[in-house]
Amino acid sequence: MKNKLSTKLFEEAQNYIPGGVNSPVRAFKSVGGNPIFIKRAKGAYLYDEDSNKYIDMINSWGPMILGHAFGPIENQVRKAIKDSFSFGAPTRKEVEMAKTICNIVPSIEMVRMVSSGTEATMSAIRLARAYTAKDKIIKFEGCYHGHGDSFLISAGSGAMSHGTPDSPGVTKATIKDTLLVPYNDIAALNKTIEANKGKIAGLIIEPVVGNMGCVLPNEGYLKAIREICTANEIVLIFDEVMTGFRLALGGAQERFDVTPDLTTLGKIIGGGMPVGAYGGKKEIMKMVSPSGPMYQAGTLSGNPIAMSAGLTMLKHLKNHPEIYANLDAAGEEIAHGLRKSIKEIGMDCTVNQVGSMYTLFFTKEQVTDYTTAKTCDTALFGKYFHKMLEKGVYLGPSQFESLFISDKIDKKLIKKILKANHSSLEELA
Ligand code: PLP
Repeated sequence: MKNKLSTKLFEEAQNYIPGGVNSPVRAFKSVGGNPIFIKRAKGAYLYDEDSNKYIDMINSWGPMILGHAFGPIENQVRKAIKDSFSFGAPTRKEVEMAKTICNIVPSIEMVRMVSSGTEATMSAIRLARAYTAKDKIIKFEGCYHGHGDSFLISAGSGAMSHGTPDSPGVTKATIKDTLLVPYNDIAALNKTIEANKGKIAGLIIEPVVGNMGCVLPNEGYLKAIREICTANEIVLIFDEVMTGFRLALGGAQERFDVTPDLTTLGKIIGGGMPVGAYGGKKEIMKMVSPSGPMYQAGTLSGNPIAMSAGLTMLKHLKNHPEIYANLDAAGEEIAHGLRKSIKEIGMDCTVNQVGSMYTLFFTKEQVTDYTTAKTCDTALFGKYFHKMLEKGVYLGPSQFESLFISDKIDKKLIKKILKANHSSLEELA
């Protein structure tokens, strides 16, 4: 596989951009080698600067659920651009977007648009603090909620991959107010709450974790958390930046039938444009400025181009409920195929999958939390990653990421992915 142009671009990029990339995991640091530079994408495929073609299993870390350059979104964006790109003033589309989100996700009675998932989560915890007049928040080991200071403690995703789950630059005072609890461990949660009685404003959780690889909640875990938060007057925040509009139209909260107080969203509601949102109970959301005293703002929030893309995406998903059954079936078929190969070849690997999210872990442990995720052989994953890349399948360049299936992954492509996986594992055995 030739990669002359990508290599040249990466060399140049490192002179001007820290590490040569604008988001750490893109640098291939945890899998070795140089990143490939993407030129364009269409449907299920990515094309790089050297004209190599890959089946895309990242899909921009989730949002391209309908595949790349989806025609109706492209058309709406072209149309919207003609009316200018940003006004810094209210628009009809923002109202339509808010109404659409509130209709699709019943727990969201009011919503505020922002420009990234990080902004959404930072705002949501500020809101929880403002609403409860308490300071501390609970965060789960290995969950990633963007790069806000409060979250960079035992953080998943790129921070975990690069060995910096606790970032320098985060003050001791911030660390003091973030309480860490292992995922899928109700006893540990109760113990933490007991030790900090009356001081906890909010609990933020990825209902299905995507950021230490795909990790599922144990049976009844999310419902138990809901009850504990209610009993202790803790604002329950579901971070559905990855799972929203993916695991079901109404997100993980619909799939697992648990109602949070606040929800953070991102990615999919922009249809690939930079968007995030936080929303929830009216009583809490009314605290947000200018309706209430909790300040939060954004020049590009509700950007008209992003709203046009996102609205087209959400409407399409709403009008085509069969997409979710198809994505679930594709996810199950891939997981089944991966497990079959692991067994036949005799690899120490396990697979976690729910709907269109999955991870192949290079460990014989069942991955249920941060501790078990860390038992993975990341060096072996790195080799596997490159073998898959050579065979034309683009995976997340880290063991600690979920993969995302788009609705453009059909039976034929599933066969190709599973064939590439089988040969790659055989070569590593
Ligand atoms: N929350 C979750 C669950 C995420 O996966 C991410 C990013 O991947 C974020 C928040 C941060 O979103 P952004 O990268 O748009 O700031």
